[in-house]
Parts: sequence; C-alpha cells; structure tokens
Amino acid sequence: MQNAHAINADLHCHSTVSDGTLAPRAVARIARDAGVAFWALTDHDELGGQAEARAAAEEFGMRYVPGVEISVTWAGQTVHIVGLQIDPFCPELIDGLTETRSGRARRARDIADALARVGIDGAYEGALQYVGNPDLISRTHFARWLVDQGRCASIGDVFSEYLSEGRPGYVGHRWASLAEAVGWIRAAGGIAVMAHPGRYHYTDTQHDALFDEFTALGGGAVEVVTGSHTPDQYRRYAEVARHYGLLASRGSDFHGPGEGRVELGTLPPLPPTVTPVWHDW
Ligand code: AMP
Ligand code: MN
Ligand code: MN
Ligand code: MN
Repeated sequence: MQNAHAINADLHCHSTVSDGTLAPRAVARIARDAGVAFWALTDHDELGGQAEARAAAEEFGMRYVPGVEISVTWAGQTVHIVGLQIDPFCPELIDGLTETRSGRARRARDIADALARVGIDGAYEGALQYVGNPDLISRTHFARWLVDQGRCASIGDVFSEYLSEGRPGYVGHRWASLAEAVGWIRAAGGIAVMAHPGRYHYTDTQHDALFDEFTALGGGAVEVVTGSHTPDQYRRYAEVARHYGLLASRGSDFHGPGEGRVELGTLPPLPPTVTPVWHDW
C-alpha cells in the first residue's frame, strides 16, 4: 500500500439520515470532489444511510468504510463513539441503536417545552421541518430552525445560548453506556473510535479514566485530526494515542457545506508519530 499517512481518509460525516443537510449520495459526491480515497458515513445512532453511501462511494471510485456514531453517557456527559468497518446487518448493533434512538422523540418535546419557557414557541414543529429521518430528531435540527427564525446568527451561537448543558433549552438525556457502544461495534466486527475527545469537559482524572475504560473494553482508536480539534489538540491526542496504544483516525465531522469549521476531506494529515486506523485496510 502507498504510505498510509498520505491517503486522504475522511471517516466521520453526517447525512440527512441523522443531522446532516445532504443525502448520503450528495455527501459522497463532495467527498469524491475533495479527493477523498477512504470514506465513511457515520450518522448518529443510525445505519439507514449505509447502503446508499456504499453504492455512491463505489460509483465514485472511493473505498467505502461502513460507519456509525453512537451517543453514550459517561460520568454525566455525552461522549460519542464512532464505529468503523462495522457490519451494518449485525442484529446486536441494529437493536442497540434502535434502543439508543428511542428516547429522542420525547426529548425533542421536552426541548420544545423548555424553549417555550423562555419565550420561544413552536420549536417542535419548527425543528421537525428540518428533520430528514423522523426517528432521529437532534438538537441540530432545533438549531437550524432557530437560526432561520433569526434568533441567533449561527448554529454555534444557538448551542452556546440555548442548547448546551446549563442553557435554558438543554434537556438531560441518558444514552447508551460506553460498554454497550463498544460492545455493539465489536459484535459487528468493527473498530471503536473515541470521537473528538477534545470537546469533552472532563477533569484530567476523568479524562484518563475514560481512556482507561475505553481501552479495557476493547476500544481501538481515537480521533486525532478532526474538525473539532485545534492543531494543539492534534498533538495532544497523538500523544494520547501513543500512550494508550490506540490507532489514530481522521474525520471532518461534516454536517453540510459551510456548517462546520472545516469542509469534507480538507483536514491536514495525521501526525507521523501515530498509526492510521486504516493502515491495514
Ligand atoms: P444531539 O445528538 O441531539 O444531542 O445533538 C448533538 C449534535 O449537535 C452534535 O452531533 C453536533 O452536530 C451538534 N452540536 C453539539 N454541540 C454543538 C456546538 N457547540 N456547535 C455546533 N453544533 C453542535
Ligand atoms: Mn451531529
Ligand atoms: Mn460527535
Ligand atoms: Mn459527528
């Protein structure tokens, strides 16, 4: 194989099957146009886009990597675990994701009620207009509606003003456990990847405990270069990967053109000190 670090891999992206703005095939086209060679669609708690994503990737000449991003609650905060090279037909994974998704409709009603208490009416119906998959209503859909209503200038502003923990539209939710998420991914023959660890607000002790538990459960990789990390965090998580013996992943966390800090397929390569998660694919 060519030098693995030189391969343009983007292994973290979303479509309308979760909280992205484009259908899987349209995301695949953007990946191809950006020169991506290894591509994964990793919708939140959903596998419904995998067949379309694989077919489009093959049509566009990219290597397809089946993926998912699972919502987890660990020490009172939400952590995301990406699964790569999963079998999307694995019953244990399918059933686990169905269970993980099941609370979202109730939570969306509660978010709307919380927003109504600060004077924002009609948020449930508003957010629903942005939902591509009725099983997967996300805070992002509320955020897009609030921006289009002129309440905030950007999605990031909606989160910091209304939807992040401690803000008036935040509703706590209990997702899967870390052991469940890693277990389902492994049952499906995949590799579990700690997503965007730089985004979590843990103490140093909790951070180490999270990685200890993740590796003990059989977690295999960590996102080092992601749209959520600064260059300092690329270096920090390259060190974490080495310390815990984890492979390193790279992914934009693309949700739609112009929505995030980086576009699909445009991140810098992984640092030379780490082993890419795709090194033996
Ligand atoms: P949910 O799974 O419904 O809790 O929504 C989580 C999603 O909200 C994440 O996957 C991101 O797409 C988005 N999100 C979370 N925090 C932020 C933020 N600070 N700025 C922009 N998007 C965010
Ligand atoms: Mn998202
Ligand atoms: Mn995430
Ligand atoms: Mn994501």
